[in-house]
Amino acid sequence: MTQKPLYILVHPEDNVAIVVNSGGLPPGTEFECGLVLTDFVPQGHKVALADLEEGASIVRYGQVIGTAARPVQRGAWIEESLVLLPDAPDLDTLPLATAVPPDAPALEGYTFDGYRNPDGTVGTKNVLGISISVQCVAGVMDFAIERIKKDLLPKYPNVDDVVALNHTYGCGVAINAPGAAVPIRTLQNLARNPNLGGAVMVVGLGCEKLQPERLLPAGVEPSIVTLQDERHQGFGDMVASILEMADRRLAQLNERRREICPASDLVVGLQCGGSDAFSGVTANPAVGYAADLLVRAGATVMFSEVTEVRDAIHLLTPRAIDEETGRGLIREMRWYDDYLQVGSADRSANPTPGNKKGGLANVVEKALGSIAKSGTSPIAGVLSPGERATRKGLLYAATPASDFICGTLQLASGCNIEVFTTGRGTPYGLAMAPVIKVATRTELASRWHDLIDVDAGRIATGEATIEDVGWELFRLILEVASGRKQTWADHWGLRNALTLFNPAPVT
Ligand code: CA
Repeated sequence: MTQKPLYILVHPEDNVAIVVNSGGLPPGTEFECGLVLTDFVPQGHKVALADLEEGASIVRYGQVIGTAARPVQRGAWIEESLVLLPDAPDLDTLPLATAVPPDAPALEGYTFDGYRNPDGTVGTKNVLGISISVQCVAGVMDFAIERIKKDLLPKYPNVDDVVALNHTYGCGVAINAPGAAVPIRTLQNLARNPNLGGAVMVVGLGCEKLQPERLLPAGVEPSIVTLQDERHQGFGDMVASILEMADRRLAQLNERRREICPASDLVVGLQCGGSDAFSGVTANPAVGYAADLLVRAGATVMFSEVTEVRDAIHLLTPRAIDEETGRGLIREMRWYDDYLQVGSADRSANPTPGNKKGGLANVVEKALGSIAKSGTSPIAGVLSPGERATRKGLLYAATPASDFICGTLQLASGCNIEVFTTGRGTPYGLAMAPVIKVATRTELASRWHDLIDVDAGRIATGEATIEDVGWELFRLILEVASGRKQTWADHWGLRNALTLFNPAPVT
């Protein structure tokens, strides 16, 4: 780790830069360029590169992240209260498909070993998933899953895991309200996630609003256990029915073998959580580079998190592949603006105390760093929350920024592997798909050496380039997707609960 004072300037027009050194830098510190700090500046926080008058634009990433609340001296710490939040970009005047990036040369020959499904999708794991139609049966499912893991799974060595798709939906909800379409299609599509092998099994109660049949895709043979079924004489019979159904399915899954699949069969979800000021200069650009490589290899890549792209939407709509796709982006932003307004909140509700401690002054700065994950490819499609991806390339899958809800919705959209960047650190993991975690700082990657898979902090210190880490990540994705390498989250079995997005009323 370097001791010499370092800052990162992202764009030549920026009038602020962020301090790289672990622990921050004291007043009086002189940088090679001659800049002298007038305040202590914590690591990841901004230092003024010029004198700023009150009301002057504060520029990072070549974009205005806010205006100065009071005069700022060159060398001063730009702490959060100094940065006034600008208005969000106006959705009615955005340029659509005006700067569509040209297609980059195709990357040929990259493959991974995956499980090919009857519908053409490919799993990176071989998992038995059991859906539930209503929360009432979740306790029974937990009991049954424990029995399946103990008594059945050892007989089927080619099956990686068994997972209950437990959730809190299904009854006590306004099932016909327009917003109910979101949780219902999420549940339908979660059951069809490529890592679950293409068959859908449902455990229901019987009297619930969301009848189990609604979770079965058209043309799929029903595989349903209903607890209120009159043939069940007590709890033991219910568990026996679930085990019997699971045993039949495990026998089928156990016959599956990995086969060589082109990288174009990957569906990679991108997310961030616990972001800091380094997210936008180390981890997210490296992920963006890997995203470009994946798109060039023909894969599907989805980025998400509406409140973290809203303030940078003017940089995304020009990249939409056509005007209709651009309008899709606007549709999702507007829907979310309205959703927040109903709850008397706005986008300023997004940044967390940890984000701010990590140097992110507001949601604009967070968004500019967040969209770096999307790389430079054209945006080829837009998915509403929980919709299944039907095309390849870079997609915008609209979701809340909440890690658990975003992860759940990306799984519903068909993601078979996720990449997650973090600056503050989170032990996040999913049961249904591998999650590769990328740290924004070396200090975090070292301290969490058995939780973080990739250290992008080397970019800040000059030990690696964005390209180096991007290629490293691309290759790691192929290894993890092939089951040859295990993520730390999978090593420890860290699983966050599936969390549905339900914008509709409960009753
Ligand atoms: Ca997130």
